[in-house]
Amino acid sequence: MMDHMDDENGRALLEALGAARERIAELESVQTEYVKVVEDLSLHQEELRAQNEDLRQAQEALAEASRRYQDLFDFAPIAYFLLDEHGAVVEVNFTACQMLGEQRVSIVHRPMRFHIGASERQAFDLFLVEAAAGRPSRTLDVTLSSRDGREIPAQLSLVVDRGNRGLRFRVAAIDISERHLAEEQRRLAATMFEESNEGVVITDAKGNIQRVNRAFTVVTGYAEKEVLGKKPSILSSGRHDSVFYKVMWERLEQSGGWMGEIWNRRKNGEIYPEWLKINAIRGASGQIRHYVGIFSDIGDRKRGTQEVERFAFYDTLTDLPNRTLFVERLKHALIRAHRDKQRVALLYLDLDRFKSVNDTLGHQTGDLLLQQAAQRLCQLVRTYDTVARLGGDEFTVVLTDLEDDTSARDTAERVAESIREHLARPFHVGGHEIVTGCSTGIAMYPDDGETCSDLVKHADIAMYHAKHNSGNGHAFFSPEMNARVVRRVSMESALRAAVRREELTLAYQPVIDVAAARVVGVEALLRWTSPDGPVSPLEFIPVLEDLGLGHDIARWVLAASSRVVNDWRFEGADALWLSVNLSPLQLHRMLMAWVWESLEGSGLAPERLVVEVTEDHFRHNSDAIIDRLIEIRAMGARVALDDFGTGHSSLGRLRNFPIDIVKIDRSFVNGLPHDQKDLAIVNTIITMARHLGMDYLAEGVETPGQLELLKRQGCGLIQGYVFARPMTADECAAWCADYNAGRMPVGPALH
Ligand code: C2E
Ligand code: MG
Ligand code: MG
Repeated sequence: MMDHMDDENGRALLEALGAARERIAELESVQTEYVKVVEDLSLHQEELRAQNEDLRQAQEALAEASRRYQDLFDFAPIAYFLLDEHGAVVEVNFTACQMLGEQRVSIVHRPMRFHIGASERQAFDLFLVEAAAGRPSRTLDVTLSSRDGREIPAQLSLVVDRGNRGLRFRVAAIDISERHLAEEQRRLAATMFEESNEGVVITDAKGNIQRVNRAFTVVTGYAEKEVLGKKPSILSSGRHDSVFYKVMWERLEQSGGWMGEIWNRRKNGEIYPEWLKINAIRGASGQIRHYVGIFSDIGDRKRGTQEVERFAFYDTLTDLPNRTLFVERLKHALIRAHRDKQRVALLYLDLDRFKSVNDTLGHQTGDLLLQQAAQRLCQLVRTYDTVARLGGDEFTVVLTDLEDDTSARDTAERVAESIREHLARPFHVGGHEIVTGCSTGIAMYPDDGETCSDLVKHADIAMYHAKHNSGNGHAFFSPEMNARVVRRVSMESALRAAVRREELTLAYQPVIDVAAARVVGVEALLRWTSPDGPVSPLEFIPVLEDLGLGHDIARWVLAASSRVVNDWRFEGADALWLSVNLSPLQLHRMLMAWVWESLEGSGLAPERLVVEVTEDHFRHNSDAIIDRLIEIRAMGARVALDDFGTGHSSLGRLRNFPIDIVKIDRSFVNGLPHDQKDLAIVNTIITMARHLGMDYLAEGVETPGQLELLKRQGCGLIQGYVFARPMTADECAAWCADYNAGRMPVGPALH
């Protein structure tokens, strides 16, 4: 039983033990589970803490970003306005406040349009409306007015924001006052550029034209499109040599600017002076980007000063340099020639017979002739050779850059020859055809003189030589020529003194009618004995005329000779005619009043006067001379044509001249009786005179042979040594008295 009981108990114990063990195991597993959970939990906690830290950091970053955003918003260089749907300011940044000079509170909640200029408000409203309607304009320029009254030009741009807080406008305003200013300046500059009276040309660094203004077109005649891309050298006049431009560019490169006077050429070819200023415009790195040339046409201004200059340096008649400028240029040429060891040729020329053109055709015609002669001269020389007018009909030409002596002389001779040839061609002046010529004297530097005055003097002397030797030719100076000139100069002063002291006298030469064996007339011939001996009137009368005394002398000759002849009292004296010679100049200047005066003073009847003229008188202005001769004839006097046959008058023209007597020139009589040609000429003249109803006489008859022949040809009026030389008044009166009385005088004629 016990056993049984024990068994029972043991079993129960065992069972209980087993259960307890199970429980313990159960508890142990729960504990393990729990430990695990705790472990997990702490793990989670750790994670959470880490997450919290991240969150805090993120929050801090966010706050930082927000602060930064606010700063950015506030201090952005652009003014921002956040507007509600009615245009009232919800938010505004600091820049905007500053721009308007207002506190934030005074801006917020008020319509933004109040800050906009009254006249622009409507446009601003429209700006918002259009944007709200989905048609945003890009920008709107307005003027914002600040609290202190400033007006700020601003450009508005706009973004529409349709957030959950409703319609918002984000408006950005940029202060554009500087841009405005720049624009205004640009506009101003553009206006100045276009409207300036000064021509402006802008080129690139290579000198290609990029822009020109209106004045450029006005001055040069080129439109902008004609010059774009071209070089300014299209305007060059050719007046400046390469050195001029070289110096200009050097100056430009060195100092960045050049300024000066320059001659350019307009599109129409006209050359004009301009005042030009060129500046080089450099880029930031210093290299030249453009050239800007500003110029003004100084033609007018120059003409003003040129007027003055012209007066001082140019001959007003021919526009050629005058003596002053000529001397200046010659001096310059000599300095250069000295430096470069070169020669200079000075040509001194004088028109032949210019005086008679002037005297017979009038000064106006003379002036025109000089102008035409000047033009021809200028065409014959190189542009840089100087042609000048020294006065009267005297011109000079300076030839420079001549190398060795022989070629220099050749060149000078060639130029002189072409001048001679061109000036010998007829000039057509005021309806007249004028044939003149010129004589040229040449002096070479340095051989004929090293100074300006020596060269001029010597060229002048050579000219004189050319004129008096041949006329219409040229001569190089040689020292012997000096003597001639010395003679001329001394003659001038001696002649002047002689006139003053009344030392000129008259000789008288009879004219004989051989058939009637009577003296029919006498010719009064002027005489002057210089300190060196007698001088031919052919030589001293031109000098007298040059001295301006020709007119007075003519008057004296007429008065004195008519008194002398009228006073003669031999038998037949009152039938004598009196011949006086009048040069073209004298005849031209003659006044009928003093012819009458002389005749009345002497008592000589006008019918007894014969005025001797030559063919030369009719060379130019026949009309004026003819009128004069008609006047002479109208008073009853007669006209004789002296030295007939030596001049250029054609027989056809002769018919129109008012001539009463033809004097057959000595040169034809000379060859008689043997020279058949002379005989033929003499015969022709006689026949012609007869046919024209003129009287004729032979002058210079020296031998009985000549006399006989002439008588045979029917020429009965004779003047010449065969009968009598020119004599003093008393000798002549005595001779005539004897001759008329049939006493063949043995007088001066045989001396
Ligand atoms: P002409 O009028 O033809 O005068 C004649 C010239 O021939 C004079 O020279 C006279 O002396 C010269 N002669 C006369 N017969 C003979 C002769 O048989 N043989 C030679 N070999 N010569 C003879 P003269 O006096 O020397 O005058 C020269 C010229 O000067 C004149 O030429 C005349 O044109 C001019 N002349 C002279 N007196 C005056 C004057 O008072 N006024 C002007 N304007 N000219 C004058
Ligand atoms: Mg005569
Ligand atoms: Mg004569």
